[in-house]
Amino acid sequence: MKTNALAKMLDELGRVSDEEGRLTRTFLSPAMRRANALVGGWMREAGLAVREDAVGNLIGRAEGAKAGAKTLLLGSHLDTVRDAGRFDGPLGVLLPIVALAELRRCGVALPFAVEVVGFSEEEGVRFASAYLGSEGYTGRLKAKTLALRDGAGVSVGDALKAWGGGKFALPKAAHRRGDLLGYVEVHIEQGPVLEANRLAVGVVAAIAGQSRFKVTWTGQAGHAGTTPMALRRDALTGAAEFALAVEKRARATAGLVGTVGALAVSPGAANVIPGQVGHTLDVRHASDAKRRAALLEWGNVAARIAQQRGLSVVWQRTQDNGAVDCSPELTAQLECSVKAVQGRSVSLVSGAGHDGVVMSALTPVAMLFVRCRGGLSHHPDEYAAAADLEIALRVMVDFLRRMAHQHAS
Ligand SMILES: [Zn+2]
Repeated sequence: MKTNALAKMLDELGRVSDEEGRLTRTFLSPAMRRANALVGGWMREAGLAVREDAVGNLIGRAEGAKAGAKTLLLGSHLDTVRDAGRFDGPLGVLLPIVALAELRRCGVALPFAVEVVGFSEEEGVRFASAYLGSEGYTGRLKAKTLALRDGAGVSVGDALKAWGGGKFALPKAAHRRGDLLGYVEVHIEQGPVLEANRLAVGVVAAIAGQSRFKVTWTGQAGHAGTTPMALRRDALTGAAEFALAVEKRARATAGLVGTVGALAVSPGAANVIPGQVGHTLDVRHASDAKRRAALLEWGNVAARIAQQRGLSVVWQRTQDNGAVDCSPELTAQLECSVKAVQGRSVSLVSGAGHDGVVMSALTPVAMLFVRCRGGLSHHPDEYAAAADLEIALRVMVDFLRRMAHQHAS
């Protein structure tokens, strides 16, 4: 199979960057324009009809052999984080292109239509808001999102207008729900489970729900030399006690992860007691009920810590996505293909969010994870071995053949 072609495409696309010497490709940037042109060319070579939608999503479509056939969606995102690896996103766009080219070479005509979608925005880098590409594709982009501004003060709306040559209207959903067979995304795992299981690929059962908060602790700033310990209202020690409580509870609950990832201490001087601390809290679990139970408990813990330490604590929710269960039917089909190619399959929960989260509002979703070295991602050393890409490609081809067989009559 054409694994070499896939590896070469990943390399070439990995050099399409907005920054010299490292890979950074953000929503509607000049590099994205070049990436869409490059990937669009590969789509055409594979026999797909190529178009770009109003939010910069790149779409390659092949009509089905049967008249009025439904459409299977395959894809992932073409934007990247800053100083990114070359697999996160592009793998899920390029692998289906190569798989479809392979089927075409073998003379297999799929009875259903296929659309390969390269979403223009998933990482949330430029406008600190993720999934703009899939929101556009599914008709869920909101007017208020258009007002968000990037670091240079450019709004989403103005960036979209410039991208479209002066014109932009909020897009409607690209398809009606009843016209779709589902959405299947191939993505590197970005975690260590496949490596621990010595498997090249695995099937995702669910994408974890995710909540993010900004938590602000307020006490009293004061002189670090003259204020006795018993009279202090130190916002940082309160926040620290809370972070440890989060860690303890998450460690004790299977599948629960809680992270205090960014922390700002004010006034922030060696000789001043911290008067205010703002920190993030990111919480994820495949079960929404378990995530909410943990949040409820942490709310109570924070209130108790604040009361004992003479602090006030304020929570501000910045993100809330429910867990997404993958489609049992598509997942079972993928598992058959994984077992046929790899001998054994493993079921994974995705701790990271993916385009499938938004796509699940339009159609059933399934995901195939590919092992990446050390579980490392969002890093230039991100790496998936050629042998693993080969297995993932064979799984996709097998999956499409099975789907073709199922929908033949
Ligand atoms: Zn990704």
